[in-house]
Amino acid sequence: MAAVRQSLWRLLSKPRCSSLPVNTVRCRSLASELKSSTNEGGASLRPEIGQADNLMAIGTRRIYSEEHDMFRQTARRFFQEEVLPNHSEWEKAGQVSKEIWERAGETGLLGVNTPEEFGGLGGDYLMTNILMEEQGYVNCSGPGFALHSDIVMPYITHYGTKEQIEKFIPRMVAGTCIGCIAMSEPGAGSDLQGIRTNAKKDGDDWILNGSKVFITNGFMSGVALVVAVTNMEAKSAAHGISLFLVEEGMPGFKKGRKLEKVGLKAQDTSELFFEDVRLPSSALLGEANKGFYYLMQELPQERLLIASMGQAACEWMFEETRNYVRERKAFGRTLAKLQTIQHKLAEMKTEICIGRAFMDQCLEIHNIKGLDSSSASMAKYWISDLQNKIATQCLQLHGGWGYMLEYPIARAFIDARVQPIYGGSNEIMKELIARPICADK
Ligand SMILES: Cc1cc2nc3c(=O)[nH]c(=O)nc-3n(C[C@H](O)[C@H](O)[C@H](O)COP(=O)(O)OP(=O)(O)OC[C@H]3O[C@@H](n4cnc5c(N)ncnc54)[C@H](O)[C@@H]3O)c2cc1C
Repeated sequence: MAAVRQSLWRLLSKPRCSSLPVNTVRCRSLASELKSSTNEGGASLRPEIGQADNLMAIGTRRIYSEEHDMFRQTARRFFQEEVLPNHSEWEKAGQVSKEIWERAGETGLLGVNTPEEFGGLGGDYLMTNILMEEQGYVNCSGPGFALHSDIVMPYITHYGTKEQIEKFIPRMVAGTCIGCIAMSEPGAGSDLQGIRTNAKKDGDDWILNGSKVFITNGFMSGVALVVAVTNMEAKSAAHGISLFLVEEGMPGFKKGRKLEKVGLKAQDTSELFFEDVRLPSSALLGEANKGFYYLMQELPQERLLIASMGQAACEWMFEETRNYVRERKAFGRTLAKLQTIQHKLAEMKTEICIGRAFMDQCLEIHNIKGLDSSSASMAKYWISDLQNKIATQCLQLHGGWGYMLEYPIARAFIDARVQPIYGGSNEIMKELIARPICADK
């Protein structure tokens, strides 16, 4: 069954003309899709979300095709049937089950954007993005699939050796080895150059010491991508940082407690400790002392991913609240009949559609590998702030019930709070956006 699914994805994601560069193929196919979806009056037959009955409707948005819609249906079914019913149990446990990772692997939902030649499913970025949206559309933040597939796996495929790729990628696609990335430390988050975890050469090996904190998927991880200082004498800290693949069970590598968080209750965010961990030379990812450069290359995708989850959360919260105010009665009629409520919904829908327009623009450009760091930072900061604004307003429209955890909007509200903090805080995003604006000519 898994093999059939994999071949389906390979078929669906094949470029239509393999002799052309990928970018050209994508642009042409997009152009032809748009052409064929335009009727005689010139109106697009593929509506944008603001034109559809529901902001989460399948078949919307010009960046997507019918093939993407088919994938979305599979993803939607998976999250509705296999994730949503179990989520409150996982919240109590502070982690999701191992089985859900393996089920995601069997269903072909991990490593969707990892190239086939590396053992991934070979889908485009838009496909993998569908998974993040669909997870947002069930309001279940538990499984850290996106971090695993779209943050950790790309480091391995972009900078790993053949042996490293063969060792980790197939197991990560199957969901039997969960990945995490360990950058932050108790004393250094925004300022990554201030990290203290270090690895010293000992013959061909490296000896790793230090600790990490706030690591998503940390407790369940089979492999941790660890950022460590390898050259204390470098002209700047950025020139002396390397990345290591540290495996569960290595002597001296210990996982700390699952941290108790305000939200994201089903995520196993944890501490990691390294005490004289002996790493073979094959644990080094890419070249020594190039780690900071690799991070700078990969972080924009992490920011885009956070923005995408935030945008999907806004769409879900809006629909959840629209349903609520249509049912809830006050002063002899439903809340939806009150003009102030209607205006609030109108304002929210407008802002969400503006967010979606920029988000889709970024996704389309990223899909052809053209997204710049500033745009990814703009999307992350603006949409995560919007998500918090929408969460506050939607909770308000639920009244006292919105403050009760049994109501999903309450969970959406507390889960939203971290979005402007992690992945580079929004203050740091503004630094990154401002830098080229104010650079000397
Ligand atoms: C739930 C959760 C999951 C996480 N997952 C991971 C993970 O998987 N891997 C990982 O490595 N990390 C992870 N993090 C860590 C996260 O990326 C950091 O918390 C974040 O980068 C901020 O760092 P800090 O907490 O050390 O805050 P600090 O750097 O101490 O910042 C404190 C405040 O000062 C502001 N500030 C700092 N510098 C500046 C500046 N130059 N200008 C203006 N304001 C500034 C910040 O914006 C923030 O508001 C996670 C965090 C959380 C909460």
